[in-house]
Amino acid sequence: MKKRLLSLLSLCLLVITLTACGEKVADRDIAKTSKEENQITWGVKNDTRLFGMMDVKTKEVKGFDIDIARGITEKILGADGSAVFVEVTSKTRIPLLKNGNIDAIIATMTITEERKQQVNFSDVYFDAGQSLLVKKGSKIKSINDLGADTTVLAVKGSTSVDNIKKAAPEAKVLEWENYAECFTALQSGQGDAMTTDNAILLGMASQNPDYELAGGAFTKEPYGIAINKGQDNFLAEVNQALHEMHEDGTYDRIYDKWFPDSDDGRVKE
Ligand code: GLU
Repeated sequence: MKKRLLSLLSLCLLVITLTACGEKVADRDIAKTSKEENQITWGVKNDTRLFGMMDVKTKEVKGFDIDIARGITEKILGADGSAVFVEVTSKTRIPLLKNGNIDAIIATMTITEERKQQVNFSDVYFDAGQSLLVKKGSKIKSINDLGADTTVLAVKGSTSVDNIKKAAPEAKVLEWENYAECFTALQSGQGDAMTTDNAILLGMASQNPDYELAGGAFTKEPYGIAINKGQDNFLAEVNQALHEMHEDGTYDRIYDKWFPDSDDGRVKE
């Protein structure tokens, strides 16, 4: 009897704690708390060259997404506001946002109708498209070459997995936890091609001259900043900041820093 009472009591405690936590995340008005704390916490990639990549020497994460996040933080909080970066992967980013570990996701994330059921998105800040990365000399020249005898590598939780299954239904798809793992698998011959957004693949090809993109983009992947539902004030601030960054040239400066030779992906307002 005593035991049962005890477990009932701990169950009640658990329910109360969970409810309290749930309320805390939902009730927090990030537009307000970010100003009180003078910081915005961003979920970013740490293994994606050109967008969010950890510099192992300086322990600093660098890339287009990082600079855009810093720019938005400065617009919202002023020059002394701090942008805090937390690593996410394609699979962990929405759960980390939902449970309140981060205020926003800026991590090569495509705006999709399916994701809009769970989160809200800012205006588009980068236009990517899905493509293929292969070893130079590969017989795969485009998605039309991905038949039943080919294996394609992709990352869990990315749109790339669903898209490639539709575009090349015969091919075998192997899924990995993150982009570093996925590219290592390609290098060690575990697949014939790797697939994700062209801009991400270009970042890999630029560091690994034995690899090249094949066949051009076969989807549209407009990137947006994801924010929890119910944070409309914060979402409006983010969109306003992006707008100002387009107006005053900050966006173009950041774009040209990371993509000096290309205009693909640049968003014009
Ligand atoms: N943009 C695609 C997506 O949101 C692929 C890149 C990524 O995995 O973040 O799923």
